Amino acid sequence: MNCSAQEIYTLLRHYDKILLTAHVSPDGDAIGSLLALWHWLQLQGKKAVMVIDDDIDDRYDFLDGLQYINKPEQVETDDSWLTVVLDATGLGRIGQAEKLVRGKVLNIDHHISNEHFAQWEYVRPDCAATGEILTYLFDLWQRDWNTAMADALYTAIATDCGFFKFNNTTGHTLRMAALLVDHGARPDFISEHLDARSLEKLKALSKVLEHLELFDDGRISCLSYTPEVLKITGEHTGMYMDYARNVKGSEVAFTVKYVSDKETRVSLRSKGMDVNAVAAVFGGGGHVRAAGCTLDKPLDEAKKLIVKEIEKRL
Ligand code: AMP
Ligand code: MN
Ligand code: MN
Repeated sequence: MNCSAQEIYTLLRHYDKILLTAHVSPDGDAIGSLLALWHWLQLQGKKAVMVIDDDIDDRYDFLDGLQYINKPEQVETDDSWLTVVLDATGLGRIGQAEKLVRGKVLNIDHHISNEHFAQWEYVRPDCAATGEILTYLFDLWQRDWNTAMADALYTAIATDCGFFKFNNTTGHTLRMAALLVDHGARPDFISEHLDARSLEKLKALSKVLEHLELFDDGRISCLSYTPEVLKITGEHTGMYMDYARNVKGSEVAFTVKYVSDKETRVSLRSKGMDVNAVAAVFGGGGHVRAAGCTLDKPLDEAKKLIVKEIEKRL
C-alpha cells in the first residue's frame, strides 16, 4: 500500500546511506528519475549511490551526474542501507543490482503491473512517468531545486509520454513539466540532445527499415533486430520504435531483439489495445499502451507467438 508523501520525506531524511537504482535497459525516465533523486539527496547532505545494471545510451550524455552511475560490481552495501527502486515493477527488473539490496526498500513507480514488493511504496499508475511523481513530491516538500534536477526530471517525463503526444499526458503531466521549466529545465536543450543522431545511427535506419514487417492487413507492425541488424545499430535501439508505431494503419507495434539463440527481448506499443496483458502472458508487464517481456525462444518463434497473442485481442 502507498505510504504518504510525508512518510517518504521522513524516510529519506532518516537514512544516511541510500542506494538508488532503476530498471535494466534504462530509458529516459529511469535515468532522469535516478539522477534527480541523487541530486536532491546530495543537496540534503546524504550519501547516495546510484547503480544501474546496464550500459546507458549515449543520447543521455548531456545529463549532469551521469558519470556517477555505477555498475553493481562497483558498489558494496549492508543492511543499514535503504534501497530506492525507481521506475521498476519488481526486484526482477533491476538485474544484478538486486544483490545489493540488503536492507529495506522504497519503490517509487508508475507501472500498472507493479508487483507491490517493497516495504514502502509510492505507486501512481495515473502518472505518465516516475519523473512526474518525483516532481510532484519535490514540489510538495518545498525543498531545494537545481537546474540539473529540473533537466533530469523534464527528460524523464518527456521521454515517457512521447514529448506530450501520448495519451498518458494529463493536465498534471503538463503542470509538472511547466513547474520544471520554471525551475530551469531547458526543453530546447533537452530535445536537441535527445534528437541528435550520429551519421552512423542515421544510416543504420535504412537497415532497420528493411526488417519492418506488417501483419493482419497492416494492423500490426514489427521491427526485428537480428544479430545482423544489431551489428549496425549497436545495442541501443530505442530510437527506432517510433518508425514501427508510425506506420499508417498500425494499431500495435512491437520489436523483437536477439539476445541469444534461445532468448528474445520484446517491446510493445499500442494505440489502444492492452499490451500489458500481452506482455503478462510471457511474464512481462508495463503499461496499457507500452509494455515489454523476454521470451526463452528464438527470435522468429517469439515473433509468431507475440503476433498470435495480439491477434486474439485485435
Ligand atoms: P520497453 O519496451 O522496454 O521500453 O518497455 C515498455 C514499458 O514496459 C516500460 O515502462 C518498461 O519499464 C516496462 N517493462 C518492460 N519490460 C517489462 C517487464 N519484463 N516487466 C515489467 N515491466 C516491463
Ligand atoms: Mn522506464
Ligand atoms: Mn517510466
